[in-house]
Amino acid sequence: MKEVPVLIAGGGPVGLTASLMLSRLGIRSLLVERHPGTAIHPKARGINARTMEIFHQQGIEDDVRAAGLPPDKVGFIVWTKTLAGEEIERRVPFGQSAARAEVTPVRACLCAQDYLEPVLRRCAEQQPLGMLQFDTELTTFEQSASGVVATLINTRTGETEQVAAQYMIAADGAQSRVRTALGVGMQGHKDVYDSVNVLFEADLRPWTQDRPAALYFVENEEMRATFLTINAHDRWGFLVNSLKAHGRKPEDFTPQHSADMIRRAVGVPDLPVKVLGVAPWVASAQVAERYRVGCVFLAGDAAHEMPPTGGFGMNTGIQDVQNLCWKMARVLQGKAAPALLDTYHDERQPFGKAITEQALANAVSMGRTEKTLQGTGARREFLNEQGMIFGATYSSAAVLPDGSPPPVVANPVTDYAPSAWPGARAPHAWVKKDGERLSTIDLVGNGFVLLAGAKGGAWVDAARPLEVKPIALGDEEPWRELYGIDEAGAVLVRPDGHVGWRSAGLAADPDRALAGAIDAIDGKA
Ligand SMILES: Cc1cc2nc3c(=O)[nH]c(=O)nc-3n(C[C@H](O)[C@H](O)[C@H](O)COP(=O)(O)OP(=O)(O)OC[C@H]3O[C@@H](n4cnc5c(N)ncnc54)[C@H](O)[C@@H]3O)c2cc1C
Repeated sequence: MKEVPVLIAGGGPVGLTASLMLSRLGIRSLLVERHPGTAIHPKARGINARTMEIFHQQGIEDDVRAAGLPPDKVGFIVWTKTLAGEEIERRVPFGQSAARAEVTPVRACLCAQDYLEPVLRRCAEQQPLGMLQFDTELTTFEQSASGVVATLINTRTGETEQVAAQYMIAADGAQSRVRTALGVGMQGHKDVYDSVNVLFEADLRPWTQDRPAALYFVENEEMRATFLTINAHDRWGFLVNSLKAHGRKPEDFTPQHSADMIRRAVGVPDLPVKVLGVAPWVASAQVAERYRVGCVFLAGDAAHEMPPTGGFGMNTGIQDVQNLCWKMARVLQGKAAPALLDTYHDERQPFGKAITEQALANAVSMGRTEKTLQGTGARREFLNEQGMIFGATYSSAAVLPDGSPPPVVANPVTDYAPSAWPGARAPHAWVKKDGERLSTIDLVGNGFVLLAGAKGGAWVDAARPLEVKPIALGDEEPWRELYGIDEAGAVLVRPDGHVGWRSAGLAADPDRALAGAIDAIDGKA
């Protein structure tokens, strides 16, 4: 029987990212995907700036950008009666606004899922520790105290094999077989509206190139639909929303019917259109009641299913495995107690719920669940969710409070207050290191990092024996105020870029204080 520390069920964006991350953390894994290759439909396209920060820290930002569209092709969100007809409204999403640069030096990226997944696959396969098996379906598994034994079937030959793993990541999508087998229930709203996603070829530049946008919403008496930009030239997605509310059924969408509807949505009856594929789907807004059952961890759509309004599904899933993989690696390497893995649910499930509620609120405001709608409907928060993108703060045994109050914002969806409060994402600040101007985002990721003030030499000495990378930073740039420490203080950033512990100044015994903090995060204290 094959043995591997981690088995990953599912080779969508979340499973592929988990494979890459585990390899970079020094952990062997086996990913199994039932299809022969990566996604053929461009479902997700919006990779938000937080996920791009993660890709930056994983060393694959440039590869992802090369597969996506440049920012000048997606500057707006547009509402029209028909694409060639009257424009109703135009907005600049936060990710494209000037204010974005204050929050992060890393831009969001529009890259269709069917272009992104091959990049993730290639990067994961380049890692010697990551094995990826396509055409391989996980059929059943059994769990014991020491791990899981799963049965895999080769979908081409029908051959079966068994594999034993200490841990399993279920990244097997919204219909997760693993979640069902575990008997984990979903909380929230199932089947809130139905849609059809049509992939097609047509040259839409005459109606798009002078107002480049990621999304062109079409709102009129006959239909509520969306043109999804893929290459901003001749490859597009066409999303028909709220079928039931408009008296439509998925079976209506033959290639001919879909092409006719696209022509009507553009407002050009003789437009040449070639339909490449039609994919019906139903949006739900629900979250798994537990993200961990024994040795099995749910991630991505297996853990949370949300309407695509806001573009959060894949982003949230990639951020799930970023939270999980370093914890798994530390436990497998004997550095942390298994209890550290409980903090995955404690940190990610409340956030999964919050973001799913926001995605649903966007959908409702945009009339996805009924026919009547005044104007565009889209609430102010839609695509202006920097609080959700950057403001996730964790509260768990892997975060040590320092007694300071949490950052307060007027609207936690739209507003983000940069802060190094323990549990928050270590905020972006410019710093000088070895004469070079860098962002703190460039300094963290993958291992523990200690950011210390110029008089924090004792912290630097304390960090060395602990496998914590110490970085002492001077005051050429005003970063310390944002980080809430004096010249002798220090901030411990976890491998996922979230602050785990902070000392505003020097402690009486820095060696003990820092070792105690690491032990507490590792679940050993
Ligand atoms: C129209 C639309 C637009 C969207 N836009 C966005 C967006 O802009 N931004 C965003 O973040 N998200 C968006 N999403 C959501 C996004 O597509 C999903 O959240 C994302 O695909 C989830 O990734 P995943 O890896 O968790 O699951 P999936 O992509 O579903 O991958 C799961 C994989 O597991 C495999 N699998 C399942 N069972 C087994 C098994 N037993 N054995 C082996 N393999 C198995 C499947 O074949 C599949 O490849 C959108 C979705 C839709 C429908």
